[in-house]
Amino acid sequence: MGEFELIRQIFMPLAGQSGSAALLLGPGDDCAIQRVPPGQDLVFSIDTLVEGIHFPHHYDAEKLGWRALAVAVSDLAAMGADPRCFTLALTLPEARREWLEAFARGLGSAAGVFGIVLAGGDTTRGPLTLSLQVHGTVPAGTALLRSGAQAGDLVCVSGTVGDAGLALTYLDDPDPSADAAAVLKRYHFPMPRLELGRRLRGFASAAIDVSDGLLADLGHILQASGVGARIDGALVPLSEALCRLSDHGRLRAAVTAGDDYELAVTIPEHRWRALADDVREQLTVVGSVTTEQGLVIINGDDVQGATGFDHFGDV
Ligand SMILES: [Mg+2]
Repeated sequence: MGEFELIRQIFMPLAGQSGSAALLLGPGDDCAIQRVPPGQDLVFSIDTLVEGIHFPHHYDAEKLGWRALAVAVSDLAAMGADPRCFTLALTLPEARREWLEAFARGLGSAAGVFGIVLAGGDTTRGPLTLSLQVHGTVPAGTALLRSGAQAGDLVCVSGTVGDAGLALTYLDDPDPSADAAAVLKRYHFPMPRLELGRRLRGFASAAIDVSDGLLADLGHILQASGVGARIDGALVPLSEALCRLSDHGRLRAAVTAGDDYELAVTIPEHRWRALADDVREQLTVVGSVTTEQGLVIINGDDVQGATGFDHFGDV
């Protein structure tokens, strides 16, 4: 069996069926066809992961499959979009059946959990690199943008931040403790906040997913919206595992570490009060949006002392 046939055989089970809600025409032709239902906007984004830069050398293929799709789909969550289909461009040093099957297993589990199907792809030979383009839809005009934050809005973050960044310390640990295993899970199997993103449509004034660290990503919202924010470091949600594993400088590490794939959002106060309880429970209010540009952190001594950035408008 040739390489092409091998790859086709391994990835075919992930392919969306022609004529399904997500795909008018699935893989196998020159292009796939997606019909966007009337009254919906198409939302799409591409992410590239390079071995040694975005994931470690010799990273487990199954985990890579999950992670690659989760990271791409997280951008759909940040827009409040419903996932539809994705394409995959895979550059591989060699086509090894065992590696491909493990990768497809991780990719397939993630696709099933996130409700997204493979629409097509391409493979080439070269250093291990993955590009995934994800497509989603939202009711017309309701996508969550980075640019809508206004002074007075509450700044909120979902879940907890910092675990995935801390996990990097334990990647080579042959026998991680329960706490280390908990933070490692956050790194290996990120869960994009799709349901939360959807539920925030019509409520959040701006949103972003936390891929580069809470401060950096919040900075993108502030810059796009032309506003600033005041954050209380004591309110930043940290997991119990993280608090047990790290002490000195943990807040700084948690707000500057990436790979959490939580959502950072701004919400006008009256809309916060109108949110369903189960949505509010997934969010922590950490501060508010201000007219003055830049990000001010109070009660974050180790953030300001360690880095010198107590006020930065250009993150
Ligand atoms: Mg993003």
